[in-house]
Amino acid sequence: MRTDVAIIGAGPAGLLLAHLLAQDGIESVVIESRTQEYVAARIRAGILESSSVDLLTSVGLGAGVQAHGDEHRGIYLQWPSERHHLDFVDLVGRSVWVYGQTQLQADLVTASEAAGRTVFYDTSDAELHDLETDHPFVTFTDDAGARQRIDALAIAGCDGSFGPSRAAMPSDKRDSWERVYPYSWLGILADVAPSTDELIYAWHPDGFGMHSMRSATVSRLYLQVPNGTDVADWSDDAIWDALATRLGHGQDGWTLTPGPITDKSVLPMRSFVQSPMRHGRLFLAGDAAHTVPPTGAKGLNLAIADVALLAPALGRLVRKNDFALADAYSDTALRRVWRCEHFSWWMTTMLHVSGDPFDAQLQLSQLRWVTSSAHGAAGLAENYAGLPIGF
Ligand SMILES: Cc1cc2nc3c(=O)[nH]c(=O)nc-3n(C[C@H](O)[C@H](O)[C@H](O)COP(=O)(O)OP(=O)(O)OC[C@H]3O[C@@H](n4cnc5c(N)ncnc54)[C@H](O)[C@@H]3O)c2cc1C
Repeated sequence: MRTDVAIIGAGPAGLLLAHLLAQDGIESVVIESRTQEYVAARIRAGILESSSVDLLTSVGLGAGVQAHGDEHRGIYLQWPSERHHLDFVDLVGRSVWVYGQTQLQADLVTASEAAGRTVFYDTSDAELHDLETDHPFVTFTDDAGARQRIDALAIAGCDGSFGPSRAAMPSDKRDSWERVYPYSWLGILADVAPSTDELIYAWHPDGFGMHSMRSATVSRLYLQVPNGTDVADWSDDAIWDALATRLGHGQDGWTLTPGPITDKSVLPMRSFVQSPMRHGRLFLAGDAAHTVPPTGAKGLNLAIADVALLAPALGRLVRKNDFALADAYSDTALRRVWRCEHFSWWMTTMLHVSGDPFDAQLQLSQLRWVTSSAHGAAGLAENYAGLPIGF
């Protein structure tokens, strides 16, 4: 088969890119190694920056966020005996939206199906070929076991941290940077109304705790746990007890209401960047090029920002054989990627205990500064609510 752009991966980056390209009259074919049901059910991110919401709205994908998303003015930062609210709207004039990645994925699938776009699910053995020529192609095995080939003018690697695109770049033409953190998150979904109106990020000597939410009836909460933690070692009662302690149940009359846990998982924390994000006719976007620890809520937003830059670049490449934006894509995207990498690392190291008492004093000092200085608070707010897509 022949198309303009072959896209590997039907996560948020891949499906949104297909949508943006279609708006510009550019054809694409998407291949995905998992089933549609599996991709739809993956519980992951839940915060959209205002620039992500603006972009989705501008391309006809904002109805779900507007109808079911929850706009938040800011977050709470706390440590034992103190809780402070940072109002992003007052500080930098921008808000964030609570909207689950599962909901966004569903919106993208609905739009893709309505437009009749071609998405191959449940594929295997994807391979990328002839990337340094003007006729690259992708081969894969479809869900019926037939070997397929897609010829395209460009290939978009939107296949996350474990897909083949990242490694398809020759090792002597790429650099990578990585930081593995000595802790993970134990995350739960619970069928209980959130005990807070906005997210709580809590520093605690026992470890970081966080109260997020997905809707008025579903809460999402996290605990810092050691790497290698087996989720089976944490009973529901033990999770709620630890959350109550770390989030300050009883402090100034605030209470944490427990409820039935419907999902439990352990998420390791890693920072990673591969550069450049382009090799020949292959362009990386989203987690295929970078990973951030989730503390800054940046992973999904970076995937959106990448494809917002990539779509016009591929549009000009396909329609006019004009490479100006394609040539600039990697450098432009990496500016924002590294800003978000820094912010995610900074939030993570400020809030997670390391066991070192000196680190703990530095963290508390940093938290006091961020919550008491207008300049410190504005810096956090500007990064959390999100810098402009072309930053
Ligand atoms: C377990 C987990 C939990 C997370 N939790 C949070 C969170 O709480 N908060 C937060 O802000 N962020 C979170 N993130 C980060 C956020 O979800 C990602 O940054 C976001 O999904 C990036 O979108 P993407 O489309 O680039 O990649 P992905 O969503 O990973 O999509 C890539 C797609 O490519 C497919 N693929 C892989 N290999 C192949 C192949 N060989 N052939 C075809 N297709 C392939 C994958 O199946 C997948 O569907 C989490 C990520 C993970 C992995």
